[in-house]
Amino acid sequence: QLEEWSKLRGEPTITQDGVHVELAANIGTPNDVTGVLENGGEGVGLYRTEFLYMGRDKLPSEEVQYNAYKSVLEKMQGKPVVVRTLDIGGDKELPYLDLPKEMNPFLGFRAVRLCLDRQDLFRTQLRALLRASVHGDLRIMFPMIATLGEFREAKGLLEDEKAKLAAEGIAVSDRIQLGIMVEIPSTAVMADQFAKEVDFFSIGTNDLIQYTMAADRMNERVSYLYQPYNPAILRLVKMVIDAAHKEGRWAGMCGEMAGDPVAIPLLLGLGLDEFSMSATSILPARSQISRLSEAQMQELASKALELRTAEEVVELVESTVSQ
Ligand code: PEP
Ligand code: MG
Repeated sequence: QLEEWSKLRGEPTITQDGVHVELAANIGTPNDVTGVLENGGEGVGLYRTEFLYMGRDKLPSEEVQYNAYKSVLEKMQGKPVVVRTLDIGGDKELPYLDLPKEMNPFLGFRAVRLCLDRQDLFRTQLRALLRASVHGDLRIMFPMIATLGEFREAKGLLEDEKAKLAAEGIAVSDRIQLGIMVEIPSTAVMADQFAKEVDFFSIGTNDLIQYTMAADRMNERVSYLYQPYNPAILRLVKMVIDAAHKEGRWAGMCGEMAGDPVAIPLLLGLGLDEFSMSATSILPARSQISRLSEAQMQELASKALELRTAEEVVELVESTVSQ
């Protein structure tokens, strides 16, 4: 198996019936890029920038951030890199921001909500990203978007910083794609409207599942409700992918579900374009996908959408697809 995987390292990911999907990796630091390339990643589908902000006693400067983003883009040699803007809050704290304790941190002041309030901090990150954009294929993605208003406001700040850089004579790429994470049910439901305004979606199932099932992802006593195969989740995922395609956009997934061998046949059948996972899952996923036919997985997915429980879906997948 190891030998088969290593042969797939430099190959694209193509199904039996000739459909190409993109397998990308989730990273937390520029050093992680080595593992992405070693494992044949076709891009970075999620760069979690929180780590730049954590483990230090003050906000990272524009220069520190610029160097990190530039380093990832350069090492990826023109392959796509999706950078997520700061997603702090929830389980991730920044002591130096001195934020008040909340009753429900996962439902609270976090991610883009905090960034729209603390514009100083957000603008610094956007500026660093825009400056780095000339070093590769940068795509910017906002986390925890719940409304179109939030997206428009965040996009406005990005445009504003872009105009300022232009006035200063600083070069910025003119082909930066701008997308959102779909991890809040309201956004999945409204995906048809979002698709008219964003360049892409990346479905964050870790949070989308917790919010859809109303089950804290950190609480073991309700962990049985983390159900990626629940038809409710599959239906939301379908809505997002269909909405993207209707407007000619692409849809990816960067939650844990994207690298799960039981979910992959379903996601392929639902039409997912990009799967972003931990680097070590890429070659096994490529091997699995190369043995599947998209047309057959479409049939599998249609059946799964009509089932009643997650257990029934797992049974269907396991009886249809040899793992
Ligand atoms: C997600 O919510 O699925 C996701 C990828 O983001 P994080 O796990 O960083 O919240
Ligand atoms: Mg998330």
